[in-house]
Amino acid sequence: MTRIAFIGLGNMGGPMAANLVKAGHAVTGFDLSHDVLKAAEATGVKPANVLTEALADAEVVVTMLPKGQHVLTVWTDVLRSVPKGTLLIDSSTIDVDSARKAHAMAVDAGCLSLDAPVSGGTGGAAAGTLTFMAGGSKESFAAAKPLLEVMGKKIVHCGDAGAGQAAKICNNMILGISMIGVCEAFVLGEKLGLSHQALFDVASTSSGQCWSINTYCPVPGPVPTSPANNDYKPGFAAALMLKDLRLSQEAALSSGASTPLGAEAAQLYALFEKLGNGGRDFSAIIEMFREAN
Ligand code: NAD
Repeated sequence: MTRIAFIGLGNMGGPMAANLVKAGHAVTGFDLSHDVLKAAEATGVKPANVLTEALADAEVVVTMLPKGQHVLTVWTDVLRSVPKGTLLIDSSTIDVDSARKAHAMAVDAGCLSLDAPVSGGTGGAAAGTLTFMAGGSKESFAAAKPLLEVMGKKIVHCGDAGAGQAAKICNNMILGISMIGVCEAFVLGEKLGLSHQALFDVASTSSGQCWSINTYCPVPGPVPTSPANNDYKPGFAAALMLKDLRLSQEAALSSGASTPLGAEAAQLYALFEKLGNGGRDFSAIIEMFREAN
C-alpha cells in the first residue's frame, strides 16, 4: 500500500485515481472543482480541502492537470511541502520545456520525478489500460512503474527528463497528419465515385494502411466502432488534437526541427475548431474537406 496524493481529478485523473484505490492504495485527492472532488470521493478517494492537506504523509504525488503552467504552479507548491525523496509523477500532456523545468525543480528539492503522459483516453483511464510514456531517471521510473501498471497496460521508459512528453507529441503529430491524409483520400474517393467500403478494403490492407483508417476510419460503415458511426462523438476531441499539434509546433520551434505537415495539420485543426467543432471527434474534420468542395 502506497500513500498517494492525486492532484487534478477530472475526466482522466478521476478514473485513474479510482483504479489506484481499487488496487489497495491510500489516495488523497485535491481538485479546484468541488464537484469533481465529490465525484472522486464516491470512488474511494479521500478528499482534501487544500493542496497541503492532500500532501500530508504522501509518498507519491501524481498530477493530471490541463497545461504546463498548472503543473509548474502545483509542483512549486508541492515541492515546498514534501520531504526529500518523494516521487512526483506528472501524467498531464504538457510542453516539453515545462516538463524539463518541472524535473529540474524536483532535482533541486532532492525529489524523484517522472513525466508520464498517457494515451488511451477516458475509456482507457477507466479500464486501467492506458499507455504511459515516461521520461526521467531509471530510479524514478523503477519507483513509479508498479503504480503506472495499476493505471495502464503498456509502460514505456522513453528516456530522460521530458522524453515522455516528446514521445507523446511526436505520436500525436503523426496521428493528426495521418487522419487528415485519410480524410482527404475518402473525399477524393467520393468525387471519383468510389464506395467507402471499396476504398477501405484496398487501403486498409495496402500501403495506405494506418491506425486512422484501420481502427478509426473517419466514415461510417467499414469500422463499426469508430466515432464516425456515432455522429462523431469523441473519442478524442478535436480541441485536444489541436492542443497536442500546437505543443508539437512549439517543440519544433524551440528545437529547430522542420515539421511542415505538422504545421499545416495544426492550422487545419485550428480552423476546424474555429468553425465550432472543438468538442467533436477529431475524425469529423472530413466534413470540412467535403464542404471545401
Ligand atoms: P479535465 O479538465 O477534465 O481535468 C483537469 C482537472 O484539473 C480539472 O478537474 C481542474 O479542476 C483541475 N485543476 C486545474 N488546475 C488545478 C490546480 N491548480 N489544482 C488542482 N486541480 C486543478 O482534463 P482531462 O481530460 O482530465 O485532461 C487532463 C490532462 O490529460 C490534459 O493535459 C490532457 O491533455 C491530457 N489527456 C487527456 C485525454 C482525454 O481524452 N481527456 C487523453 C490523454 C491525455
